[in-house]
Amino acid sequence: MLDQPYDDRDGWIWIDGKMVPWREAKIHVLSHGLNYASAVFEGTRAYGGKIFKCEEHTARLFYSAETLRMKIPYSQDEVNAATREVLQKNNLGDAYIRPLVWRGPEQMGIAGLKTQTHIMIAAWFWPSYFTPEQHERGLRLMMANWQRISAKAAPIHAKASGLYVTSTMAKQEADALGYDDALVLDHRGHVAEATVANIFFVKNGELHTPTPDAFLDGITRQTVLELAARRGIKVHIRTILPSELGDFDGCFLTGTAAEIAPVGEIAEHRYKLGDLVRGLMQDYAAEVRK
Ligand code: PMP
Repeated sequence: MLDQPYDDRDGWIWIDGKMVPWREAKIHVLSHGLNYASAVFEGTRAYGGKIFKCEEHTARLFYSAETLRMKIPYSQDEVNAATREVLQKNNLGDAYIRPLVWRGPEQMGIAGLKTQTHIMIAAWFWPSYFTPEQHERGLRLMMANWQRISAKAAPIHAKASGLYVTSTMAKQEADALGYDDALVLDHRGHVAEATVANIFFVKNGELHTPTPDAFLDGITRQTVLELAARRGIKVHIRTILPSELGDFDGCFLTGTAAEIAPVGEIAEHRYKLGDLVRGLMQDYAAEVRK
């Protein structure tokens, strides 16, 4: 199942209010969303049949759509209900859920304001973005040769498909060179995040994480900040420079798909998986199944 192409699977996908057989979930090639990346999406997870932070993901989907001037023709409650329906209809307990909103093919002009806004929700079994072996040895990250762009160049707080060209390029390069992922700097050369996950560092029992002013402020990042506060761990949200990478003892990534993933190295710098990160991983695993 896991290796099967995504268009050739059994199951149901919710599109514009209807459950459609998986293989029939298609769009026209002249869709504005496909031509110009006028699309926004979410990545959500369910654990044991319960969707973790469903409302928060739906709220972010609406925020992202509004940012791109797309009006989703459903309420947030309706989208939450549809997300649960997709999980049930596909008999999924632990799952990754992908809601996507895109502009249709009514208009080819770049503004696209006369297009219809479509929405779909798909879900499938997907255990973890990184394998247990990668977690155990710690991820190996290279320094990406691509940068996150400034908030003046694109709506960087929206989860907009167009922004993912940077992630795609950086991850392709990491894969080609035998790394697990890449550390992406922002346009000023500050440490930003990995390709699809935020980043935290550990030093002397405290956490350091970049200020989210040039990248997505992830929902998992926010959960980890809550979990750290519960444990009384001090967190420094600040500008982090690449020249500091050698100063930290530990490092991990956070994301809905990646969950909490320990990093073992970034370029020539090495990190250990200590008790602080193990504790947060346990807390996170408990929190998502609460
Ligand atoms: N940054 C990027 C670029 C991402 O794609 C993701 C995954 N959505 C994240 C950070 C982490 O966000 P979240 O914790 O909300 O999944």
